[in-house]
Amino acid sequence: MLRLYTHPACLEHDPGPEHPESPSRLRAILRALDHDRFAALYRIEAPRATREQLLRVHAADYVDRILALAPTSGTVRLDEDTLMSPGSAEAALRAAGAAVAAVDMALAGSGRAFCAVRPPGHHATPDRAMGFCLFNNVAVAAAHAIEEHGLRRVAIADFDVHHGNGTQDIFEADARVMFVSSHQSPLYPETGRPDEHGVGNVINAPLSPGDGSYEFRELWEGALLPKLYAFKPQLVLVSAGFDAHRADPLAELRLTTEDYAWITGRLMDLAHAHAGGRLVSTLEGGYDLQALAASVGAHVAELMA
Ligand SMILES: [Zn+2]
Repeated sequence: MLRLYTHPACLEHDPGPEHPESPSRLRAILRALDHDRFAALYRIEAPRATREQLLRVHAADYVDRILALAPTSGTVRLDEDTLMSPGSAEAALRAAGAAVAAVDMALAGSGRAFCAVRPPGHHATPDRAMGFCLFNNVAVAAAHAIEEHGLRRVAIADFDVHHGNGTQDIFEADARVMFVSSHQSPLYPETGRPDEHGVGNVINAPLSPGDGSYEFRELWEGALLPKLYAFKPQLVLVSAGFDAHRADPLAELRLTTEDYAWITGRLMDLAHAHAGGRLVSTLEGGYDLQALAASVGAHVAELMA
């Protein structure tokens, strides 16, 4: 059974009318999932992450600052493209809380989950909001799996078109987590070179502008998935960004909706081989509403298979 974690509060984070990371993204996804073929999805309202859960990966003064910063009207700017509105702190708590609850569920033996949440998380570092991200949702989930459930090997597979610099920052010295990323280079945030390898637990695989299905699949098949299989993860977490799609306005890769079904299937194979089928995917980027809705639909349909 596939569980879908989301929360209405995630629609209330509004970085402003011109911002690509808009509430319309989540609305488009929820509309796409409100379809007969997804009738078997088990929908769960995401809880808030606790302060203790956030402090496993974020500095205390950073968490306090984010929670205190939300304005009573309008927006407050944290960096050039990361803003908070009155609903942002609650949305960020629910987004991180979704990933934590999904891990609890997965490790209770119930398998797989998708977290349809925003703001996204993978650019957030221990003490810095950036790239539309406030709390690093997938990192909070990985730390929870380790600290609360005692796991010794957690994999994070990140196929967002941007490098997950925050996730890398958080875990690059922690061999209990393997962080594997495909991303376009050059592109924001300009990190993720192959020679950034942590303690052997970080695998960065850049793609060039214009690369598409062939290069993406070859990279995962030839370089990234073998590393993940060798790591033998007890849990597979996915930073599921859909902005490498050819229609996406923020990058120049040329993936198709089918590529997202493919990578999802391959990551499920990995989870079945080593992790008892336990996989938790959480939404990162994806900024063409139609492509995003179709790609999430393909991802979720595959997770339900
Ligand atoms: Zn992205």
